[in-house]
Amino acid sequence: MPKTIGLYPGSFDPLTNGHLDIAKRALKVCDHLIIAVVANPNKSSTFTAAERVALWKTVAPRLGRNVKVDSFEGLLVDYAYHIKADLIFRGLRAVADFEYEFQMALINRTLHSDIEVCFLVPNEQFIFLSSSAVKEVARLGGDVKGFVPPAVEKSLRMKFKIRP
Ligand code: ADP
Repeated sequence: MPKTIGLYPGSFDPLTNGHLDIAKRALKVCDHLIIAVVANPNKSSTFTAAERVALWKTVAPRLGRNVKVDSFEGLLVDYAYHIKADLIFRGLRAVADFEYEFQMALINRTLHSDIEVCFLVPNEQFIFLSSSAVKEVARLGGDVKGFVPPAVEKSLRMKFKIRP
């Protein structure tokens, strides 16, 4: 049987435990998962694309050998087509995510009709979690241990020059 290739794209600025939860769930549905950091230069980010990729590369091995980390610029569907993805995974947290994700899924389907988008719902403990909220807590010196993997926590401390 052909192997299913899943793509989990995102800004991941930086990745959080919510992103990790979605990646783990995606692995129940596909054989290979490619986690792809969006590296569009016109979108400002706290961590560079290289830093965001490096953080995923530190964390991803614990998910399994069938996970790869990459980055891309330009249209998501073009990249998905290029890597022969069968499924694009997106996480749905609350109603707020729905409208945007639904619009993007339909636009992407118009551009490339043969790639399906699969929405996954995280564990409820991550429903409130976002990269921007985590950065805000870290910037103000708060403890983000429960929200991000240790490597990300360390990077946030370095980024915002906060002592342990
Ligand atoms: P983007 O700019 O592509 O939305 P994000 O890094 O914010 O990039 O999110 C990437 C994907 O992960 C999106 O589908 C988003 O809805 C999902 N996501 C973000 N945070 C969480 C979370 N806490 N739980 C589940 N999914 C999440």
